[in-house]
Amino acid sequence: HGNNVTDLRSTTHRRIIMFPLPFQGHINPMLQLANILHTHGFKITIIHAEYNSPNSSNYPHFTFYSIKDRFSEIADQLATNRDATFFLKYLNESCVHPFKNCLAGLLAEPGDETVACLITDAGFYFTQAVADELKLPRIVLRTSSLGCVLAYDALPWHSKKDCFHLSKEDSDYEASVPEYPLLKFKEIVKITTNPQGMGEFVTNILDQMKASSGIIWNTFKELEETDLQTITQHFQVPSFTLGPFHKYFPASSSSLIEQDRTILSWLDKQPPKSVVYVSFGSVAHITESEFQEVAHALANIGLPFLWVVRPGMVIGSEWLESLPEKFEERMGDRGRIVKWSPQQEVLAHPATGCFWTHNGWNSTLESVCEGVPMICSPCFVDQPVNARYVSDAWKIGVFLEDGFERVGIETAIKRVMMDKEGEEMRERITCLKKTVNVSLDKGGSSFQSLNNLVDYISSF
Ligand code: UDP
Repeated sequence: HGNNVTDLRSTTHRRIIMFPLPFQGHINPMLQLANILHTHGFKITIIHAEYNSPNSSNYPHFTFYSIKDRFSEIADQLATNRDATFFLKYLNESCVHPFKNCLAGLLAEPGDETVACLITDAGFYFTQAVADELKLPRIVLRTSSLGCVLAYDALPWHSKKDCFHLSKEDSDYEASVPEYPLLKFKEIVKITTNPQGMGEFVTNILDQMKASSGIIWNTFKELEETDLQTITQHFQVPSFTLGPFHKYFPASSSSLIEQDRTILSWLDKQPPKSVVYVSFGSVAHITESEFQEVAHALANIGLPFLWVVRPGMVIGSEWLESLPEKFEERMGDRGRIVKWSPQQEVLAHPATGCFWTHNGWNSTLESVCEGVPMICSPCFVDQPVNARYVSDAWKIGVFLEDGFERVGIETAIKRVMMDKEGEEMRERITCLKKTVNVSLDKGGSSFQSLNNLVDYISSF
């Protein structure tokens, strides 16, 4: 009987309206989720900011509406201002009216279909009030790990003892943070340059997650089992862990930058598990001297490497101007530098041996899914938390703790690629890869959670 009810509801062509934050690491999981829900019979409308607007031609089965977010007025500050909350707060103000107008317009459209719910990124906390006003259930997509939300919830953002600005000289620098012992003070200083603003942001997103109708997480139960128990105690609304989203479909098409696919045939020519893949994602920046240290380390280490240097990533450079002299000669055919890679395919390629990453949550999950051990160089926001989980909790990577310095980098690469320690990491992450597949298979935890989500949305 239960099944009949589900079938009847899913044939009524109900629509879901989705609203991603306009950054690559948020657009990817939202569009992947949209595809997943679409295959379960829902129609999809995407409301999106003008800034970083997704390529709608890759999604002819969705309807897109663009709203004026005015982000371009501040976008040039992204390279120099490390305070993420400045940009997020701006968007939560600039989008209110355009979003509300757009949504109200869509709800007023005549037709025989109904809108089941709104799914918005947790970072767009303002949308809960809009949803309440328009009497539409809002489900939150939180694109980070569960552990990150617990850490954010616990950290002493407003502490008088300013623990977010410690330096190497402070005696506590290497110590664990009492509120979240997995983390050390030296990591939490990286999370934000503005603890006060971060504290306000965290309160806003957590409050509005609690006020929502449910939370969708891009993770899987077996990876974060203990944290999931804590989360379900903290949040009274239902949580759905149906990740990793990208595994539901062959490859993603929500890339904002064109992916250089020529490297796949280069990878085909490399020995199994020999290539060091290096990428720091879509927003992290590094200084010229850090860039040069990376280059020297890659030149010295003697292993094949694939290095993603996003244009604008090196502060003060357009692209590769500050490479050390004779670097290309030394690199020869052993290395490749590209502007942007088809990352999921690179990680899945048998030649890829390790992933030197900034530990954005998508990158971290993608590495787990393909069983590729990591070298962790987190930059900011949730990345230091993810890095600590990777190195200390799951023991599937090496934390490059002391920054970008060629000898330290070479040691970290050797530890993962050549040492027994690295072999053990590879065994552990290979186990996790198998667990991912089990959780996505019929009857597995993610499979089940997706069914629960579909039923839940159908019940609205
Ligand atoms: N990515 C990609 N090509 C690259 C580097 C990254 O397609 O050369 C994708 C990657 O697969 C991931 C996303 O961009 O899905 C980055 O998200 P993540 O959360 O790892 O980091 P962010 O960019 O948000 O810092």
